[in-house]
Amino acid sequence: MQTVAVNADTYADYLRGGKDFIDDAALKAALAAPAPTAGRVRAILARSLAVSEALPPEDAAALLAVEDPGLLEEIFQAARDVKRKVYDNRVITFAPLYASNFCVNNCLYCGFRTGNAGAVRRKLTLPEIKAEAEALAGRIGHKRIIFVTGEHPATGAQYIAEAMRTIYDVKVPTRKGYGQIRRVNVNAAPMSVEDLKVLKTAGIGTYQVFQETYDRELYARLHPGGTPKADYRWRLYVMHRAFKAGIDDVALGALFGLNPDWKFEVLGLVAHARELEARFGIGPHTISFPRLENADGTSLPADSLKNVSDADFKKLVAVLRLAVPYAGMIVTARERPETIREVIGMCTQRDASTRIGIGAYSERAGAQEAEKQQFILGDTRSLDEVIGELADLGHITSFCTSGYRCGRTGDHIMKLLKSGHESRFCKLNAVLTFREWLDDFASDATKAKGEALIKKETGEIRARSAHFPPETVKMLEAYYDRIEKGERDLCF
Ligand code: SAM
Ligand code: SF4
Repeated sequence: MQTVAVNADTYADYLRGGKDFIDDAALKAALAAPAPTAGRVRAILARSLAVSEALPPEDAAALLAVEDPGLLEEIFQAARDVKRKVYDNRVITFAPLYASNFCVNNCLYCGFRTGNAGAVRRKLTLPEIKAEAEALAGRIGHKRIIFVTGEHPATGAQYIAEAMRTIYDVKVPTRKGYGQIRRVNVNAAPMSVEDLKVLKTAGIGTYQVFQETYDRELYARLHPGGTPKADYRWRLYVMHRAFKAGIDDVALGALFGLNPDWKFEVLGLVAHARELEARFGIGPHTISFPRLENADGTSLPADSLKNVSDADFKKLVAVLRLAVPYAGMIVTARERPETIREVIGMCTQRDASTRIGIGAYSERAGAQEAEKQQFILGDTRSLDEVIGELADLGHITSFCTSGYRCGRTGDHIMKLLKSGHESRFCKLNAVLTFREWLDDFASDATKAKGEALIKKETGEIRARSAHFPPETVKMLEAYYDRIEKGERDLCF
């Protein structure tokens, strides 16, 4: 059974003078500072473009204070420039696999909450998880998923580890090759070090836990006492425990919309990234900024959904992009397509073909699905449509998962990202994995767009001989030929 500890020992070592790394007064003071001059804003943007560690919260607050449309445009452009510099034009796609909506918590905003008597509860068995993975890997074409559960003794670390092994074992024939899920990330309750070691042994990719809100008082109101989630610090220090357990790809997030003062959450995320850098020399692998959506059976003030406007959302994405320049940034299908289009140039990952009903990929969508959903999605387009649109916008979809499997994680990947060297591997692997996907899953229209993009990418690779020596290009060509003949999973 999963440990649900309300255990001060687990974070006592990390407090400074009894205080957390979230210094409420300092963050609020930073937000209260007068708007910065254009000169200061430009100096901050230049520091971000140098791609080193996360910016101080005061700098993030200064960017958040900008209202001048011209200066805001400079911020958006700099955010796109940082993304290009670190991650080029690649976007990684993935899908969430919702495995269980049993939950002992009562988060006021979530359809899975224990107080939602109307929810139809379900936990997938291992054969059902296999069927989901087969649909994702064999029919839709995903290679990377995030495994999601509520918090419940029946879906603790052992269940998740067995599910992960089941998913990694799936291998499905496709048009030309075969489909496999090559990376399983996990979004589940904060766990103990022992439980996290179980996930590490089972081959976890990234461990993701959202703090929801960094505001202690609001946190207490949204997470009723007597539930495990009520312990703010157990959640706040979960990534410290993950590092202790040997998991060095960790993912942060806040649920935007809960706090009317959404800027505080931006600074909370930045402070969290800096704390991980200071303690472990490694910042977050990714940052997520889900926005609150309508969900059945929830209990929030009616106007909560208006707390973060579309304009606020674009600004918060840009400032997070700039404040933690090396981190991947995930925009989710909670957002509508037009919102995603506004921010995708600053982001590195998005989900697509997303279904959040339990068992929804392998079963025919039925009336029941809505009852099993956690919230309502904004973008329900297929992976094929999304990839076609990304290509129209000049982004290549990468299905690369080799970084994790070749040991490029943690501080190794951080150094590569900050130095710009990660792109050497990633650009090549994007081409190879995109070729696989086009051959196995693409519609004719998307295939044509994708092939034009591959031509452009390989042209760039050949032209940059200092970055890609002739022997690398030769190897790329050899791998590419073999993939076209049906071989799979060849990477740098
Ligand atoms: N139960 C685990 C937990 O709470 O950490 C993980 C799974 S939970 C289903 C994943 C995330 O969904 C939560 O961390 C929360 O940020 C998000 N979420 C919950 N209710 C939501 C809503 N109404 N709209 C958008 N996102 C929501
Ligand atoms: Fe449970 Fe997570 Fe939903 Fe809270 S957010 S009710 S912990 S599934």
